[in-house]
Amino acid sequence: MDGRYEPVESPDETTVFPYHDLTPPTTADAARARKTVSRHLPETPLVRSEHLSAVTGADVYLKREDTLPTGAFKVRGGVNLLATLDEEFRERGVLAASSGNHGLSIAWAGREFGVPVTIGVPAHANAGKVAAMERLGAEVIRHGPDFDAAREHVEELAVETGKRYVHSGNEPKLLAGVATAGLEVVEELPEVDRLYCPVGGGTAAVGYCLTVGAVTDADVVGVQSAAAPAMYRAYHEDTLAPHDRMETGAEGVATRVPFALPMGVLRDGLADFTLVPEDAIGDAVARLFAEERIVMEGACGTGVAAALGADDIAGETVVVPVSGRNIDRAKLDAALAEYDGEG
Ligand SMILES: *Cc1c(COP(=O)(O)O)cnc(C)c1O
Repeated sequence: MDGRYEPVESPDETTVFPYHDLTPPTTADAARARKTVSRHLPETPLVRSEHLSAVTGADVYLKREDTLPTGAFKVRGGVNLLATLDEEFRERGVLAASSGNHGLSIAWAGREFGVPVTIGVPAHANAGKVAAMERLGAEVIRHGPDFDAAREHVEELAVETGKRYVHSGNEPKLLAGVATAGLEVVEELPEVDRLYCPVGGGTAAVGYCLTVGAVTDADVVGVQSAAAPAMYRAYHEDTLAPHDRMETGAEGVATRVPFALPMGVLRDGLADFTLVPEDAIGDAVARLFAEERIVMEGACGTGVAAALGADDIAGETVVVPVSGRNIDRAKLDAALAEYDGEG
């Protein structure tokens, strides 16, 4: 190693290496990514939710990203990034830090393209997600109490090993890959009025802004848990400062440090950014299981909760992505025990 990958200064306090390009992707990049992604992944169904439509008075459609291999949308980004990985990293391998689904995405894509993968996860990461990464052939390193601790460890390893560090937000190729979901929505449901998107690092929301937000009249609305509002605050207060409160049980949206590249796109791209209370997330998860037998993570419970809490969507056509299904079994049981609906 000759020090080529020493960290450079980053606008968002997460380390960015020289190969981390902060140029925002465009709608054309999403269209290009689609050629790559469609060779490796199926399109996902867009299905009307009879329960949510009846309760809200809107036409609510669920974009079933849970039907992808890995059970979450992020694999679209992993495929697009690893498909175009520089030759020097194909043998040396890639590194990522993850609370679960980003790591699964990179692990799946690594197996698909024959690239060695190492994933750093927090010590108490979702056990099912960790087992799935290992099953895909990734090396998993457990480190620290939360995502950001695992991330800092992985960034040190990236300096030491020269492996390609795949950031979970500051990666144009990931964003363009993830945006392919929005292109599918545009084709199938161009009359969409509003899309509620869960936000963790912001990649999913960027994808929908570049597609649904850019080429239809729809409003893309970001949603976070009130218990972990780092990106909400970044959006409304125009700051990239880390946020001290991160207490959500939904690990897919548990971020403390806002990422510069996604936030740059979301500032202009989102029509609004809202928060939902933690108990509404549990209710949404339980409701979708009880009423429609859909298993979803707390992270996408945020989007469903936002639609359920909106008082102005009757008569609209609304899309909510089911961003992932890899919920810890105990969390699903706990949410169901609290739920007092009929199903
Ligand atoms: C990562 C994730 C999110 C949040 O997506 P970002 O692109 O990080 O904002 C939402 N839902 C699930 C299931 C996730 O894994």
